[in-house]
Amino acid sequence: LISSPKSQGLHVIHIAAEMAPVAKVGGLGDVVTGLGKELQKRGHLVEIVLPKYDCMNYELIHDLRVLDFEVESYFDGQLFRNKIWIGTVEGLPVYFVEPIHPDKFFWRGQYYGEHDDFKRFSFFSRAALELLLQAGKKPDIIHCHDWQTAFVAPLYWDIYAPKGLNSARICFTCHNFEYQGAASASDLASCGLDVNRLNRPDRMQHHSGPDRVNPVKGAIVFSNIVTTVSPTYAQEVRTSEGGRGLHATLNSHSKKFVGILNGIDTDAWNPATDNLLKVQYRAQDISGKAENKEALRRYLNLSSANIRQPLVGCITRLVPQKGVHLIRHALYRTVDLGGQFVLLGSSPVPHIQREFEDIANHFRNHEHAQLILKYDESLAHLIYAASDIFIIPSIFEPCGLTQMIAMRYGSIPIARKTGGLNDSVFDLDDETVPKQFRNGFTFLNPDEQGISNVLERAFYHYKNNTEDWKQLVQKVMGLDFSWESSAAVYEELYHKSVARARATNRVH
Ligand code: ADP
Repeated sequence: LISSPKSQGLHVIHIAAEMAPVAKVGGLGDVVTGLGKELQKRGHLVEIVLPKYDCMNYELIHDLRVLDFEVESYFDGQLFRNKIWIGTVEGLPVYFVEPIHPDKFFWRGQYYGEHDDFKRFSFFSRAALELLLQAGKKPDIIHCHDWQTAFVAPLYWDIYAPKGLNSARICFTCHNFEYQGAASASDLASCGLDVNRLNRPDRMQHHSGPDRVNPVKGAIVFSNIVTTVSPTYAQEVRTSEGGRGLHATLNSHSKKFVGILNGIDTDAWNPATDNLLKVQYRAQDISGKAENKEALRRYLNLSSANIRQPLVGCITRLVPQKGVHLIRHALYRTVDLGGQFVLLGSSPVPHIQREFEDIANHFRNHEHAQLILKYDESLAHLIYAASDIFIIPSIFEPCGLTQMIAMRYGSIPIARKTGGLNDSVFDLDDETVPKQFRNGFTFLNPDEQGISNVLERAFYHYKNNTEDWKQLVQKVMGLDFSWESSAAVYEELYHKSVARARATNRVH
């Protein structure tokens, strides 16, 4: 097992359900890896604990081996053995917990969406803490994420600190308050938590009433640091409209709650080195961008007649959160305005997927619009590079990564003013924003008029101010969306929390 960190560095252990690129469903996976790598670079010892899923990308785990050390953890009145595997992912040491349990919790061919998710992840949260205790770890920070590992916070204080795993402060990050993992109150007992003690309005009781508990609420109450993924989203979730029932809890714990904008992996998303592109390019010389536009048009059978015809891109999960009706409207409006539109997306919602399949059929042989309704990482890279404008008309957006990736590839974002989009996209025509920060186009009203107007403005700038547009492209390509500054904020929060704990311990 890995030894303790050197002098100044903190020992940070993430307990999470995802980690890119081995086990990624969404932004959570990117944050665990991106933040972890940056903290490691800054001299901290970072370790990750993940479930050992059958469906992970095993080829991306280096030196995976099973330890000759099993961990017994409690669940439903019994002790179960867990095999512990260790490997390296993106240079970070990762422990994989494999429960020896008849329900084969992580042997399901998918990460989430099983009928017993609450059971699977409350089991995992407890097993992960048991691993830290039995391995003799003395972390400074245990960082848990989203409802799947939110159980860690109450488990730590109620069960593991008394058992001697008591060196740590707990940090909880919520990546999307839409998902809170609420379940029957009685289910909470399986992992050993005391339902009577916790099923109270000021602790874990769900807002719907006394028969349900809410793990995210528990983590807000029982963590030392609570974060979400952008400053604007942190404000929004403290209102009754945005908080999904948790606004009151967040307000009463507001002192420890902050929004920190995620970074992107600037090594993976770099047009100067991206091998998936037809031609690599950099801000100093963007001629390669036009070649990628030409390549994408040929690949998708779009007209190449006019190099100055603006190409609008959109890459997204097609779910209501992303403003699907606005995306649809933007597609038709772009074609009306004389532009081209490329959508890459897929939907887990059957009626949305069907609706977009119909639209895709309508545009099948169209020379100005194409819809590709699947998940395709390589094509995503080419669209970021080829597009002139990129739309993200989300209804709500905790952080959003696509606007940052688009800018890195010189595609100018059109974003709705919400959540992390509001913290990263600033309107070119907004006189209240200092000129140096303006980098795209924004709109507020989530209706057809709102998206039409902003598209028209963007087209106007693109068509009438060619030189200004080129400078804008070069400017946004040079913006810093790396993890460096965000990781520094997390580092400071960790340090302050550890210092507070030490000061308190000295007093008592
Ligand atoms: P969310 O996590 O809510 O889906 P984000 O903007 O945080 O949204 O992250 C989306 C990520 O998924 C981006 O890296 C984007 O490029 C990628 N992505 C979304 N849909 C697709 C798709 N159909 N094909 C390839 N990549 C996709």
